[in-house]
This record gives sequence, C-alpha cells and structure tokens, in this order.
Amino acid sequence: TITTSAEIREAFHRFFAERGHEIVPSASLVPANDPTLLFTNAGMVPFKDVFLGRERRGYDRAVSSQRCVRAGGKHNDLENVGYTARHHTFFEMLGNFSFGDYFKRDAIRYAWAFLTEVLELPPEKLWVTVYEEDDEAAAIWLDEVGVNPQRFGRIGAADNFWSMGDTGPCGPCSEIFYDHGPGVPGGPPGSPDEDGDRFVEIWNLVFMQYDRGGDGALTPLPKPSIDTGMGLERVAAVVQGVTNNFDIDLFRRLIAAAATLANTSDHENSSLRVIADHIRACAFLVVDGVLPSNEGRGYVLRRIIRRAVRHGYKLGIDEPFFYRLVEPLIAEMGEAFPELPANRALVERVLKQEEERFRETLAQGLRLLADDLQSLEGETVPGETVFKLYDTFGFPVDLTADVAREQGLYLDMEGFESAMEAQRERARAASTFRAEYGGLADFGGRTEFSGYDVSEDAAQVI
Ligand code: ATP
Ligand code: MG
Ligand code: MG
Ligand code: MG
Repeated sequence: TITTSAEIREAFHRFFAERGHEIVPSASLVPANDPTLLFTNAGMVPFKDVFLGRERRGYDRAVSSQRCVRAGGKHNDLENVGYTARHHTFFEMLGNFSFGDYFKRDAIRYAWAFLTEVLELPPEKLWVTVYEEDDEAAAIWLDEVGVNPQRFGRIGAADNFWSMGDTGPCGPCSEIFYDHGPGVPGGPPGSPDEDGDRFVEIWNLVFMQYDRGGDGALTPLPKPSIDTGMGLERVAAVVQGVTNNFDIDLFRRLIAAAATLANTSDHENSSLRVIADHIRACAFLVVDGVLPSNEGRGYVLRRIIRRAVRHGYKLGIDEPFFYRLVEPLIAEMGEAFPELPANRALVERVLKQEEERFRETLAQGLRLLADDLQSLEGETVPGETVFKLYDTFGFPVDLTADVAREQGLYLDMEGFESAMEAQRERARAASTFRAEYGGLADFGGRTEFSGYDVSEDAAQVI
C-alpha cells in the first residue's frame, strides 16, 4: 500500500509514466524566463512556453512534482500559514500535462483512477466541481465516471475558470475535493462556509481550450491542452488519515526538531507549524539562488525568515536556531531534492546570518510594539508604529501584522503608506542634493518597498 509522501510522489510519477508521460524533474523556484512572475507557484510554470507553442520538447505528455512557493506576488498564502490546516508557503505540486495531446475525458479519467484505484480513496469521500458552463466536463463526470450528483457542483469563473494572463490560453477547471468529515469545520465547495478545512481541494484539472484575444474574445485553441495540479501535502494528509497537513510525515521530523529547540512537548503549537513551514520555503529559495535583501524576491525571503525567527523568539528560543532545522529538513527531503544537501553549507550560513542580524533589533522592536499596544485604544495599530518598526527595527509589515493578529488587532495600512511616502520624499530630496556631490547616495534599498502584497501587482513585477 501507498502511505508515505515519497510513495505517493513515486506512485504518481509511475502512474503517468505508464500512460506515456515523460517524468520531468522539478524546476527552480525562480522562473527561468519570466521576469513578471515572482516564484514558481504551480506545476505548469516551467511549461508555459510549451503551452504557448513557443518551445517544443521531445514529448507531448509530462508528469512532475514541482516545488512551489506562494508568498508575495499574486498567489500569496503567507497569511494562511498557521491559521489553516492546508496552506503552506512552500509545497509540492504533482501534475500531469498534455501539450495538445489528450484532453478532458482522459484527464478526468486519469485523475479519478489515480485517486480511487491507486490511492484507494473511497469515492463517497470525493466531491467534484466543474465550471458552470462546462456541460462537456459535467457529462464526463456524471455519466461516464458515475460521480454522485449530490457530491457534484457547478461553480462560477472566480474558482473554476483559469487564465494564464490577461490574454492567451485559458479555460474551465474542474476541482476534486476530499471530505474530512463532520469533525472538521467547513462547508462543501460553493457553500458560504467553504473556506474551512473540512472539504479540502486536493486536485485542480485545467482544460486549456481557448485563446483570449486583446478584445477579450475567446477563440477555441486548435489543440487544447491539459494542466493539472495536486498538492502533495494535502493528498498525503488524506492518505495518512490526518486532517491537518502539519501532521503528515514530511512535517513530523521538522516539528519535532523545532520542539526540541524550543524545549516544548506541545507539537500542535502553531508557532512550531509556522517554523516548519517556513524552513522549507527559505531553504529551497536559497538553494535556488535567492538571498535575503531589501527588494524583490530577496525581500520575500527576508520576510519569511524574519517571521520564522519571531515565532522562535515567541517560543522562548534565545539564540539563532532556524539554520539548525536544515539538517532535519535534509533528512526528510534530501533524497527527493538532491540540490538541497548539495547546498547545505550555504543555506545554513545564509539563514544563520540573517537571524543574527535580525536578533539585534527584534527584542527591542517587540518591546516598542508591546508598549504602544498597551496604550492603544481601538483595534488598529497606528501607521507610525508600523513604519518605525519597519524602518528602524527591520520588521517587515507582514511580521508586525502577524503579531497584531495574535491579539485581534489590525494595522493602519493607510497611515503606514503615508509615512512611507513621506520617507520617499525625504530620500528624493536628499538624493538630488547628494547627486551634486558625485552620486554617492546610498539608501540600502530601504525605500524600495516592493515586498508587501498590499501593492500586489507591484510586488509581482520585479
Ligand atoms: P485553495 O483554494 O485551497 O487555496 P487553490 O485553488 O489556490 O487552493 P490551485 O491554484 O488550484 O490551488 O493549485 C492546485 C493545487 O495545489 C490545489 O488543489 C492544492 O491541492 C494545492 N495547493 C494550492 N495552494 C496550496 C498551498 N498554499 N499549500 C499547499 N497546497 C496548495
Ligand atoms: Mg489558494
Ligand atoms: Mg481553490
Ligand atoms: Mg484551485
């Protein structure tokens, strides 16, 4: 039987390889030729040019387990980590792809066969949605596969219509959910309380069948394609009979290691989960060439590291610890991703340095914040405080938001933005002045505030 994450990954590759798919290794988290995208956030990203017909490969079917990061940028799950049972900043997306070869019928049948025959999931636990206008997919699911209409729904474009961009390939999706049962809060897909952890979306099948023109009109693609994505951690939770992703094998060792460093035995502590999530994202980002900095990708990495460090501090860990989780991470994932052990020394050094640096101001910043919160009236942390923490103590805004949220508070983002604007004005004035003296201006990139997703689109374009 298939139980471990490694076995699921393997079985997925094998299943699709037996059906003519080329096994393609995971690409880097930094997209190869795409400056508009912050990180690889789905399995299809490395195949974008193949779908667009700009690149030809020696195969028209592929299968992969792609490492993904959804932090910063358009898909941002950073705020979900520690709060839902199913979101990570770093996760693996299992996917099968057809480049103008098979289409809806085979994609649906393969997915159903993999879940019910290979993983042996009970069909009555699986729910299916299609795009509301996609009668073709509905008929395949209901008439051919025989899904129970009571566990089947038609959903609008927001969730079930996918586009590569404003123009270009797009098409309806069909999603498969697993019902973890009434013990977990949440409603079925399409219901008002669908955002719980009970009905977990495990697999998304995208049917690329149109080309959207500049005028918005949809033209059928001559050779429709398939792009699917299934979260390995989510399906592992299902297979391993746990309702929280952080209870699967891939996380157990990491959480145990962090718990030892924190000297606690409460493995359900959400700070431990955040740390276990963040070490995966941070280690792999460094492996893929990202270094902490004050802008772009490097700033997203810095934000995630500092967030993890703050959670460690909250757990009472009083010395650099984050880098010490690289070893248990390698024990867990080094075999599937050999680039990780190969870069061990670098990853440890980068994480350690960044933590040492942040620890110089962390305690002081937190004290300042606590003092301010003490005298706070209402639920909003003043923008001036958020700015001061950012500017003087190196607190990324989302880190301050994370602390505030733990106390039921919000940030005055407008106040923060105007404090930032005032700072930019000062910098501009100073830079004009300094330019006259040989262009020696150095603001260390601090004024390039491009990392926070309030200005999401700005953050996406580096
Ligand atoms: P959700 O609605 O749960 O946020 P999504 O619709 O954003 O998921 P897709 O973009 O459809 O996700 O990605 C395909 C699959 O990848 C999902 O069905 C899920 O299994 C997995 N996945 C997506 N985001 C995450 C995440 N942050 N952590 C773990 N797995 C994820
Ligand atoms: Mg999502
Ligand atoms: Mg979804
Ligand atoms: Mg989805």
